Amino acid sequence: MPEMDLPKADAVVVGTGPNGLAAAIRLAQAGWRVVVVEAAATPGGGVRSAELTLPGFVHDICSSVYPMGVSSPFFSSLPLSDHGLEWVLPPAALAHPFDDGTAAVLRKSVSETAAGLGTDAASYQRLMAGFVPRWRELVEDVFAPLRWPHHPFLINKFGMRAIRSGRGLARSLFKTERARGMFAGLAAHSMLPLEELGTAAIALVLNLSAHAVGWPVARGGAQHFTNALVSYFKSLGGQIITNCRVESLQQLPRVRAVLLDVTPRQLVQMAGDGAFPSQSRPAPGWASYRKKLERFRYGIAAFKVDWALSRPVPWRASDCALAGTVHLGGSLDEVCEAERSPWQGKASPRPFVLFAQPSLFDSSRAPAGQHTAWGYCHVPNGYAGDMTAAIEDQVERFAPGFRDCILARSVMGPAALEQHNPNIVGGDIAGGAPTLSQLFLRPTASMYRTALPGIYLCSSSTPPGPGVHGMCGYWAAEKVLRCQ
Ligand SMILES: Cc1cc2nc3c(=O)[nH]c(=O)nc-3n(C[C@H](O)[C@H](O)[C@H](O)COP(=O)(O)OP(=O)(O)OC[C@H]3O[C@@H](n4cnc5c(N)ncnc54)[C@H](O)[C@@H]3O)c2cc1C
Repeated sequence: MPEMDLPKADAVVVGTGPNGLAAAIRLAQAGWRVVVVEAAATPGGGVRSAELTLPGFVHDICSSVYPMGVSSPFFSSLPLSDHGLEWVLPPAALAHPFDDGTAAVLRKSVSETAAGLGTDAASYQRLMAGFVPRWRELVEDVFAPLRWPHHPFLINKFGMRAIRSGRGLARSLFKTERARGMFAGLAAHSMLPLEELGTAAIALVLNLSAHAVGWPVARGGAQHFTNALVSYFKSLGGQIITNCRVESLQQLPRVRAVLLDVTPRQLVQMAGDGAFPSQSRPAPGWASYRKKLERFRYGIAAFKVDWALSRPVPWRASDCALAGTVHLGGSLDEVCEAERSPWQGKASPRPFVLFAQPSLFDSSRAPAGQHTAWGYCHVPNGYAGDMTAAIEDQVERFAPGFRDCILARSVMGPAALEQHNPNIVGGDIAGGAPTLSQLFLRPTASMYRTALPGIYLCSSSTPPGPGVHGMCGYWAAEKVLRCQ
């Protein structure tokens, strides 16, 4: 394949997801000339928005809620507000409604949240008190690859709980269905069966972040988060070329480093026989490295619906209107059941639904008085069925009359998500299953470094894994800088 005609650069980054942009920014900060190429027409990967339904209704196509974005040690060090990013913080991060018409509400205040958890109030306060005040120290170690921690006692205390299964920790900490159900919903973000060891980790991270920094959305839509990153990157001299898909590494010019914001399967395709850069023989070690990449397991998928609504969602529990995110799944047992199904190869008839209602707090996303909503559930990888009715049934269960508010909807199953972004392999939004064995040494023990000289991975298929925090890109760039 002919070499691409790119501007002169020290590094080329392939992909403008948050990790690609983080890597590009870090290298540009170090004085490197960096060019980023992106297959899509717009930058951002999983952080983009568009009028998916009707004119005037702005929807976040993939991610929408950014506790990890504001917690990220790297992103929080950047002057993104000077580049147009404004965070909008709903009064409560999360509501978890139940069939009795009430909801557990995760508020900024630990004590106010605990007060809503009945007899579990004291346990909840004890759990949070140990970590919330030290959140910034904790994230330094949580959002990092395996290394000697900066705060060993704190991370050890956290790790003892985080290593548990979401179900096990919920049952041992709490007695009420309210607290257990809310914790289960948080653990379900792991996209693993809640009986798996380590699924408590994501629940704790999300729970603590709600008190420490909140769960914001970007004013005007997710694209504004990306636009701020792009604008800052360009202010450092960086260049971005969109509508430019890299099919083969042979198309890339000789530069000091190439960083790929792609998943292992795409790296295998792009590398071909591993003869890169422009060598006649494959790089030593490529064959065994390639086998390891081929063994990397992708996880379950997302099935997503976006709605344009004529009015706010008519929640039975009025507290749900305070929260940017609403978890629809009921009790601990029910959430566990729903999350097990996709791993057993079937879609749950009563799926756990992650639901966001950003326009309630950001009026720029919809025409006056009207609203947007965003929701998805988990399905088997590559699932070809339609979950629209099952998702809307769950919303209707906690908000009777929801269907009457729908003006239009956009539906994206696994295939449509992958079509939108090739990193969403079979609908897997985590860049590979974040199981314990694939979380720390991801996708192989060499993490960011590949077997190909000068070629690095920087996507969420590397540590610390999925979510919009940019730390995979940051650490990949650090690796590049250390290897020079
Ligand atoms: C439906 C959904 C909801 C989500 N919700 C949240 C949320 O609310 N909060 C949160 O923190 N996270 C959320 N996530 C996860 C989050 O979006 C991802 O973890 C994150 O975007 C991963 O970033 P990345 O940079 O690794 O890759 P991506 O964001 O996937 O970006 C990869 C980029 O590389 C480009 N690319 C790939 N191959 C090539 C190629 N060959 N040539 C050129 N360009 C290429 C792609 O087009 C894409 O732009 C969600 C994801 C989805 C899909």
